[in-house]
Amino acid sequence: MKQLDDYFKLQKEIFDYFGYVEDWVAIPIDDARDYVWTLDAEYDDNGKVIGGEVRFAETLKELENWEAGKYYSNEIYTQRFLPKWVYTTNDYTMICVDTHTDGNKFLQIFDNSKKVDTEDNYVPPDYSQYVTPTMMNLNDSEHKLVATLGNEMGFGRIMQLARECWAEELAKQGFEGGEFQYGPCVALTTECGCSGSCDWCCGSGWLTIHVKKLKDQSERHKIKNYD
Ligand SMILES: [Zn+2]
Repeated sequence: MKQLDDYFKLQKEIFDYFGYVEDWVAIPIDDARDYVWTLDAEYDDNGKVIGGEVRFAETLKELENWEAGKYYSNEIYTQRFLPKWVYTTNDYTMICVDTHTDGNKFLQIFDNSKKVDTEDNYVPPDYSQYVTPTMMNLNDSEHKLVATLGNEMGFGRIMQLARECWAEELAKQGFEGGEFQYGPCVALTTECGCSGSCDWCCGSGWLTIHVKKLKDQSERHKIKNYD
């Protein structure tokens, strides 16, 4: 039967293309090339995907609209006979998934050109046009005064003392804890990107890079818990 011969020959060609070797369990191929998709994977120390999920939708808008939930998600099926579960080529990615629907498990094939950035290949947006709230009220004579003092005694020391003095003043008025705290070195932070009234940076204008990633992610996904 020629059709059957051709069928298995073609299947083997596809498996070879991805470097996939079937072992013990036969998992059918599913064509997901039309979908926009993103991989939310868990990795081991060697960068191998060891779990997580693939999310996909018909449009980018649907994929990003966390609240409407108009996207699909499949858990990565870490089938124990296979050496790995995500097979990446330059053009396509084949992912072994468990749909948790009617026992269906697939080798889902996605188009790399429709992959959306995740945290792992994340590039922060350019917020350089923003002015941080703490830089808004610069006054030249104040600036010179602080510069002189800072060069005398050290800028870090000024910050420490300013916080202490401020705290003492507030304590007298019964408003403990209202003073600003100095934070990490600027090289370890990034602009928040807000315009002042902000729960993420409390108006300081600066976040650690990790927190900034979380902020941008939550804004993209509109996760209520982070608001
Ligand atoms: Zn902010």
